[in-house]
Amino acid sequence: EDKLRVVRDRVRSFPDFPVPGVLFRDISPLLKDPVAFKALIDLLEDHLRASFPKIDVIAGLDSRGFLIGPPLAQRLGVGFVLIRKKGKLPGPTESISYSLEYGKAELEVQSDAVEAGQKVVIVDDLLATGGTMRAACELLARLKADILECLVVIELKALRGAAKLEAIRFHSLLQYD
Ligand code: IMP
Repeated sequence: EDKLRVVRDRVRSFPDFPVPGVLFRDISPLLKDPVAFKALIDLLEDHLRASFPKIDVIAGLDSRGFLIGPPLAQRLGVGFVLIRKKGKLPGPTESISYSLEYGKAELEVQSDAVEAGQKVVIVDDLLATGGTMRAACELLARLKADILECLVVIELKALRGAAKLEAIRFHSLLQYD
């Protein structure tokens, strides 16, 4: 499809970033090009409207999920909530630590970010090992959210991150090996 090609053409790759051996997929050109950025949000909106009759909240992952989630939430007429790296959010929070390829990280959400039973879609730019997205799911599950789907622009297939999400529905626009 046309829009998908426009989006794919605006993702670039950098070898050996941030560490040797990693091929980093960079969405900066996609954000910089208004036609491609609009095509991206169009595609995500179309996908969600076709998949779910009702969505209450879009949750975005720190930090590139914060670039994609809000325009998408505005299109759908729903709110946006932040899932942040630890130590950034005031007030009562839930937090979870999870392991990265190298070391550990912690994610946090405000305890009142979603109400029990609210239907949530979690968005991020990219799924690699799936550890970050899985941790986000666990956080929202603690708030008793109804997680409809994890949605990303790019899926790095070879890392099999989607399997880590187990029974939670997952969708990606673009796949790389
Ligand atoms: P995971 O937890 O291994 O799935 O890593 C996913 C997280 O790391 C996401 O928040 C991504 O933004 C970030 N990430 C990992 N690899 C890349 C990449 O190649 N490009 C952009 N972001 C990446």
